[in-house]
Amino acid sequence: MSTFMMYQPLTSGSLIDHAARYHADTEIVSVNTRGGTERTTWQQVAHNAHRVASALDHLGVPSGARCATLAWNNRRHLEIYFGVGAGGRVTHTVNPRLSDEHLIYILNDAEDDVLFFDFSFCPLIQRLRPHLKTVKHYVLMEPHTDDIPEELAPLLFFDELLEHGDKNHRWPEFSETTPASLCYTSGTTGMPKGVLNTHRSLVLHTLSSNQPDGTGISARDCLLPVVPMFHVNAWGTPFIAAMVGARLVLPGAKLDGESLLQLLSSECITVAFGVPVIWANVLEALQNHPRPLPHFRRSFVGGAALSPAMTEIFETEHRIELVHAWGMTETSPIGTINAPLHRPQPLTEAHALTLKSGQGRPVFGIDLRLVDADGQTLPSDGKTRGYLQVRGHWVVGHYFNQDKSALTEDGWFDTGDIGTLDEHGYLILCDRAKDIIKSGGEWISTVELENVAVAHPEIQRAAAIGVTHPKWDERPVLICVRKSGSEVDEAALHLWFQARVPKWQIPDKILFIDTLPMSATGKVLKNELRHEYGQILMGART
Ligand code: ADP
Repeated sequence: MSTFMMYQPLTSGSLIDHAARYHADTEIVSVNTRGGTERTTWQQVAHNAHRVASALDHLGVPSGARCATLAWNNRRHLEIYFGVGAGGRVTHTVNPRLSDEHLIYILNDAEDDVLFFDFSFCPLIQRLRPHLKTVKHYVLMEPHTDDIPEELAPLLFFDELLEHGDKNHRWPEFSETTPASLCYTSGTTGMPKGVLNTHRSLVLHTLSSNQPDGTGISARDCLLPVVPMFHVNAWGTPFIAAMVGARLVLPGAKLDGESLLQLLSSECITVAFGVPVIWANVLEALQNHPRPLPHFRRSFVGGAALSPAMTEIFETEHRIELVHAWGMTETSPIGTINAPLHRPQPLTEAHALTLKSGQGRPVFGIDLRLVDADGQTLPSDGKTRGYLQVRGHWVVGHYFNQDKSALTEDGWFDTGDIGTLDEHGYLILCDRAKDIIKSGGEWISTVELENVAVAHPEIQRAAAIGVTHPKWDERPVLICVRKSGSEVDEAALHLWFQARVPKWQIPDKILFIDTLPMSATGKVLKNELRHEYGQILMGART
């Protein structure tokens, strides 16, 4: 290797060390699982991260070992994030809302040595523990307490464990391609699959996604990641916050609209991150109990499609910008972020609105293309729909514990999404390939139907699904949740659709239910809806 320039490996330890050194007093606010709010600093978080690493050394946990977490967004989780990864082990974040079957599968597949967990998950641990084959150390993320069921013994307590740790411990030296964190997909089709991020991929993701046309977070920001630290590294927000020394507010377990609104206001949050349903709840809380949010400027929203109707209400009524972003576990997760381009010739209003509602354009380090069903590349003309493929510095190569590559023969990852791209890379996502409605050889985008539905002033939430049809293979059925007090009916919504979509895309049936089934990562569980309503058109006239 040439020595003309210094070489230093890109590691997560360098991020926390930077925060500790140059942003030592910047505050980290953490809502505790058992109530109350704790205030600490980047320096104290860094000291505890070093203590975590050295305590794991004392326990004899080998380098490279996976250390799982079942935890909310809080400061102990943050200390584990850095202490485990920078200490040469792998932080394996686990989504506690998965089924017991998937959790047991994931923890055994990852062969975790250590399992850190929050107090709320004591009952879950009691159920899982007899089935976990490799976990040697169970660590409750609390000070010592006797307030735990006997069946959980033997148990270590996080704060006691750290007493055996050394804040002056030094990070071990290793290559930047060493694994740092592991996250499994949600496994809506088949068993979950593990995506292993390396230190290099993680640092490059942090640097690139925080460019001005990306998340653009600075030391003057106060960040509220509502996206869970248990799924895809909370979209990288802990690492971005450390890199720039931003103030960080970790919201704990209470993620209802009112609790979040309280935090947004009392902690003077400037930037937040969350899935669309979180912002729908915040909006409802804002409408019920209006209060000024003078500091809150923007939120990054992804994980599921953000409806243009909600973006507009936030912007016009509250002067808060919702920025649409796209990604997935396999892309660490940030792929695209919606930032406008400089345009010498202004766009038409309709074109500008279309682009604004889309998922944005790739950040540096991500490359996108569309292909047809035979893998042939399709034009990026803003019109042609195709299967979206991606490649880049923080895109999965092969899944954990699987020998086979996850990529196409020419090195791209097939996202399972369908969309359009224009010449600048603006992505407009139509659907998951498994959700798009195939009606008589044409595709109908469920995202478009849902956007039309929630633009209706009396509809709170909506999900469109493809339902088996005797003549057309599939036809759209729309399942809606009304706003409270509304009695809007199928006929009225039918008229609403007639005015807004081509006739052949109007849902054949519109149903109303009280709540939509949702995953912990903010996605409507459409397979459950298809299971329930999949046959309701089989008696339909052809
Ligand atoms: P899983 O663990 O189930 O794979 P991910 O959190 O990785 O879940 O979800 C990735 C998927 O979420 C994407 O492939 C896409 O279908 C959907 N998604 C993510 N962001 C958006 C967005 N902004 N608009 C629409 N869908 C999105």
